Amino acid sequence: MMDLNARLKKFKEAEYDVNKEKYEKIINQQNPHTLFITCCDSRIDVEKMMQADPGEVFHIRDIANIVPRERDPEGHIPIVSSIEYAVQVLEVENVVVCGHSNCGGCAALMHLDDYETSLPHTAHWLRQSLPLRDYVREKYSEESEAEQLVLLEKLNVFQQLVNLMTYGFVSEKVTAGTVKLTGLYFNIATGIVSVYGYDPEMKDLLEEIAEDVKAAPDVC
Ligand SMILES: [Zn+2]
Repeated sequence: MMDLNARLKKFKEAEYDVNKEKYEKIINQQNPHTLFITCCDSRIDVEKMMQADPGEVFHIRDIANIVPRERDPEGHIPIVSSIEYAVQVLEVENVVVCGHSNCGGCAALMHLDDYETSLPHTAHWLRQSLPLRDYVREKYSEESEAEQLVLLEKLNVFQQLVNLMTYGFVSEKVTAGTVKLTGLYFNIATGIVSVYGYDPEMKDLLEEIAEDVKAAPDVC
């Protein structure tokens, strides 16, 4: 079994004490340059991927890296308040949404009916992305199940960039150029991280999807 105490002891001795100067700089405050929104998946090591030290990256993690649209902030206070704090108080320069290959959340979304009873809370959360799932199913019906899943994982990243723009405090800063939106897709099999800028053309496409999202039932 994993030995928590041993790992914490090793962290203190082999990481904290060795890099004491690095940690002393952040004792009193954090000054992260990036808000990093990604899946809860344990295979995504954000600090290693970003080559970042403690204090550089502000995290939000949820299943399938979903950003709830502004229409329903009350139901998603933990996520929305974290975005608000990062953008308004910490004044991050970058907001990144990172999806990944073999995402269990996206795979569950592909067959959500199977999980309504066994994983009611997870299904409840994922339900907000059903219109995107249905869009992929219909638009790419000729593709294999595996290819549809990859398309969903990637389009899901763009969808969250569009969703972020539904918050005035985000869109104002993106428009002013003080915040940059970026989508990432981490291929766990190759280590390659694809980078996607916030593309207005993609926005047009996803705004259509977003219209469907708006019509979807509230999740909370
Ligand atoms: Zn995932």
